[in-house]
Amino acid sequence: MKHSILILDDSNFNLEILKRQLGSIFNVITATDANQGIKIAVEKKPSLILLDVMMPKINGYEVCKIIKSYDGTKNIPVVFLTSRSEIEDKVEGLEVGGDDYITKPYNVSELIARINVHIRLKEAQDKFRQLLEEKNQLIEQLEKLSLHDGLTGVYNRKYLESYLEKSFEGCGRYGLDLSVIITDIDYYKRVNDTYGHQVGDEVLKRFVDRISANIRKADVLARYGGEEFVIISKNTGIEGAAALAEKLREAIQEKPFQVEEYSINLTASFGIAALSRGNYTSPAQLIRDADMCLYRAKNSGRNRVEY
Ligand code: GH3
Ligand code: MG
Ligand code: MG
Repeated sequence: MKHSILILDDSNFNLEILKRQLGSIFNVITATDANQGIKIAVEKKPSLILLDVMMPKINGYEVCKIIKSYDGTKNIPVVFLTSRSEIEDKVEGLEVGGDDYITKPYNVSELIARINVHIRLKEAQDKFRQLLEEKNQLIEQLEKLSLHDGLTGVYNRKYLESYLEKSFEGCGRYGLDLSVIITDIDYYKRVNDTYGHQVGDEVLKRFVDRISANIRKADVLARYGGEEFVIISKNTGIEGAAALAEKLREAIQEKPFQVEEYSINLTASFGIAALSRGNYTSPAQLIRDADMCLYRAKNSGRNRVEY
């Protein structure tokens, strides 16, 4: 396929000659008016723009500046083709962002060769930009993967720990409350034993969905271990957290989890600890206390909230 090049020149005579010289090699688009030329550049994104300098209204340098300032066109090579051959003219052309400056009279073979060089360069740069973009996307995906749990999609323990550390410090400094709820599904092993691991996995996902639907956007939910999850709520004291845990407990036992043809009733136990007015000196203590409360909830018959 032929590369398309846009030639902007106020002289129809020049355009006709160039079209004849280049038309068999490139798909030539022409414009005699600067604004029209810019519009074509934006819409058609030619592989290269051949630009006259002396034009009425807007001169070629100004056109070049405009083309190089738009995201959609700034990577299109601009080659000046002009009879202005003073050094200062050439310097100005290159300084406004032009990629090359060819003076008249020109040699057609050289003009074609130079156009091809710039098109090749642009293609290499486009490829490079695309690879860079793909690399950045990959990094983003990897970062996401490294902080999220593969099965349920919620944050993992690594993220939880760093988030808790930061929140503990921030809330501590501003005297804000911070609560930690740990929940663990009751007798979850039976789900695996009765229905198999795959159904067990699906139950975990549904469990997470139900928890997610009942917490605030600002709350952070993370998978702490197998069937153990943590919810961190900033600006929430022990009473608020207890109310939330109670709501979650009810949401879990309220109706069975429907997986394949099975209808599985579940309950979960909850342990809570909250940072308030400097009652804790480390986030690890906060987690440990919440975990102890969870243990108490388990030992007191499960399907309970303890704090
Ligand atoms: P309790 O009420 O005391 O919490 O009893 P439990 O059966 O829920 O707890 P236990 O710790 O005895 O068993 C947890 C089980 O969770 C054991 C483990 O094989 C299972 N498990 C952990 N991670 C996953 C997972 O990703 N998928 C599935 N299907 N099972 C998991
Ligand atoms: Mg359990
Ligand atoms: Mg467990």
